[in-house]
Order: sequence, then structure tokens, then C-alpha cells
Amino acid sequence: MSGRPFLQIPGPTNVPDRVLRAMDRAVIDHRGPEFGALVRGLLPDVAKLFRSEQGKVVLYPASGTGAWEAALVNTLAPGDRVLSFNNGHFSTLFAETARNLGIEVDEAPLRWGQGVPADLVEEKLRADRGGSGAYKAVLVVHNETSTGVTSDVQAVRQALDATGHEALLIVDTVSSLASIDFRMDEWKVDVTLTGSQKGLMLPPGMALLCVGPRALAASEHGGSRRNFWDWRRIIADNATGFYPYTPATLLLFGLREATTMLLEEGLDNVFGRHARLGGAVRAAVDAWGLKNLCEDPALVSNSLTAVCTPDGIDSADVMKIARERYDLALGVGLGRVRGKIFRIGHLGSLNELEVLGTLAGVEMALAEAGVPVELGAGVAAAQRAFVAGQQAVATPVAATSR
Ligand code: PLP
Repeated sequence: MSGRPFLQIPGPTNVPDRVLRAMDRAVIDHRGPEFGALVRGLLPDVAKLFRSEQGKVVLYPASGTGAWEAALVNTLAPGDRVLSFNNGHFSTLFAETARNLGIEVDEAPLRWGQGVPADLVEEKLRADRGGSGAYKAVLVVHNETSTGVTSDVQAVRQALDATGHEALLIVDTVSSLASIDFRMDEWKVDVTLTGSQKGLMLPPGMALLCVGPRALAASEHGGSRRNFWDWRRIIADNATGFYPYTPATLLLFGLREATTMLLEEGLDNVFGRHARLGGAVRAAVDAWGLKNLCEDPALVSNSLTAVCTPDGIDSADVMKIARERYDLALGVGLGRVRGKIFRIGHLGSLNELEVLGTLAGVEMALAEAGVPVELGAGVAAAQRAFVAGQQAVATPVAATSR
């Protein structure tokens, strides 16, 4: 295949040339002055991506799964109880990670396609037993990557506040940070965790956490037995710009560049761009007459869309055609929606024309798999969404220039 492959899975995402160039360099001494200066300058800027002034950013050479473990073992001990919500593959795995670490998980079952309902959070917390058996934390996946649903974390926070419950709020933003509005301090999130390979536009390999004061306090004298994941040692060494063990040196140079790019664009513009791209993809899905797995239009994800294939069509067949004929990688249906959906990733380093190319490929793959779509209908719907968006933005400019 010639030309650029289309990597439109919901992470890992495309790495911008600027980031690739920043990492294309000699490895430096991670105990030398250049490295210390890099880290000291970097961590406060990364905190801005979490919208946090109070939180401490902690980076590990790991994936999102490692970030789950880091958040859990630093704040919780075996036998502690937590509340979680099962609305997709990743919330299932987050709960499973906690159980594997000896934590007792009260896992509220939801439909896959549903967000975390704030009223259920409130109900669960009000019904919670008090004392040492009370929930120590509430686990929430902000953007459920397996279903394309963004839960309302602010509403979850309000539910916690309404009950006065003291549980920590631990939020997975693996597929939302730097793509979808998230405010660590304002929403009083105690631990936010993410990975490098999605909105941050980096290769896989880095787990990022932002740790708020209550979580830090919980970890000072509590938590589980831990070594590699112990953020106390990392935070202590970070004060001078260093790490207790060998960091992922080149990924840190990449993170420096990606963070600069995101801050140059401005976080609100980054979120606006994702909303625009997501809106166009959803317009295409509607034009194809297909269903978005997300049940609530208010909770549709701006970083990916989970598209349901009609009865009798295996979504894996659509993906196979897209990959083999058009070099277009789409996200597979995970867990209980395997074969029923495919996912279009629209996050990270991405623009309108790349989305249109992706939609053209999806449309052809659908037609070739036997889904009765009209060729061009989805692409045209997305184009109309983009043009309408541009006109809405352009009108005041034209008016002032007159
Ligand atoms: N949480 C969410 C929401 C994810 O989407 C993923 C992976 O896609 C993970 C956690 C696990 O991350 P990783 O595969 O990097 O371990």
C-alpha cells in the first residue's frame, strides 16, 4: 500500500511530526542537569492539561493499566471498599484491577452505552454503611472508550458533595484528557489517570497521574504495600527534576513537545476541535442510517464514536475490508459488543480532511460488507457539518470587516 496508513483507532493515535522530531535525538543522562531542567519545566505545564494547580503530576513508564494500579495501590489497602460502575469494557477492567489487588468492589451494573448516572451515585453513597467499612473511593471512567460515552464527572462530584461522603474520586481520563473538557481542581477529583497514547499524541509507554491533596494525604500513611508504583518517592525526587528509577527519557522529550503544542493551540480550542470532528462523524453515522451505541445524545464522546452494524452484519467484516482494501485501522468491538460495533477514533492530532478521508473509507467498507449505505451520503453530511460550523464562526468576522 502506498500513501499514509490511516490509524483511526481510539488510541494509540497519530503522533505529530513535531513530536517525532523532538524524540528523534540522543538519549541523555537522566541524572544530569539537562534532564533535571527538562522535568522541572515540564511537570507544571503537564498539570495545566489536567487543569490543576493543586495536583502533583506523576509519570511512570507504563500504560493506562499501570496508571490504574498506581492510583489504587497508593490510596487503598486490601480490604478497602470502593464503588464502581460497569458501563463498558474499560470500567470492567478497572474494577477487575481493584479486585485483583484485594480491594472489595461494589460494581453497579449499567447498560453498555449508558453514562454513570449521578443520581445512582448519590443513592449508592446515601445507602453506604458508615465507619471503617464505608466506600473509600468512587471509580469513574470519564470517557468509556469501548462504547463512546462521556460521563458527567462534574455531576458525580456534585452527588458526592450532596451526600457529604468522604470517598476519594478517582477518574480514568485515558481517552479524554486533552480531547474532552476535564477540570481536576474545579471538579475536586482526587486522582486523575491517563496514558500517553491518545489525546496527548505520544506513542504508548507512559502513564500519567495527577494527584490531589486528599489522595496524597491518603497515600502518606496508608495505601497498599508497593514499590515501583509508590508515588511518594517519585514526588520527592521530582522536586529536583529527577526520578528514583530510569525514566522513559525520549518519551519525556515527546511529552514536552506535545504539551507545548496543546498549550499553543489552547485547551479550549483543542476541545472545540474535537467537538467539531466528533460532530461531523456523528452526522455521517446518522446519514448512513446507523445507530450510535451511546444512548444519550448529551453524553456522546468527542474522542470516538462506536457505530452499531445492522443485524446480520459482523462489524469485524467491515473492519477487515477497511484494513485490507483501504489501509484504514478502526477500533474493534470489545467484550460483549464484539462483532456488533466498530469504533472510529477521532482524537489526538487530527483535522477535518483526515476525518473526511476516514469517513470515505468507512463508507466504502460498509457498502462492500453489504450495509445499504448510499456512497457519499456520510461524507457529504460531515462536509455540511464542517461548512456550517465555519459559517457560524466566519459570520461575525465578515460583519466586523465590513
Ligand atoms: N482506560 C481506558 C478508558 C482505556 O481506553 C484504556 C485503553 O484503551 C485503558 C484504560 C487501558 O490502557 P492501556 O491499554 O494503555 O493499558
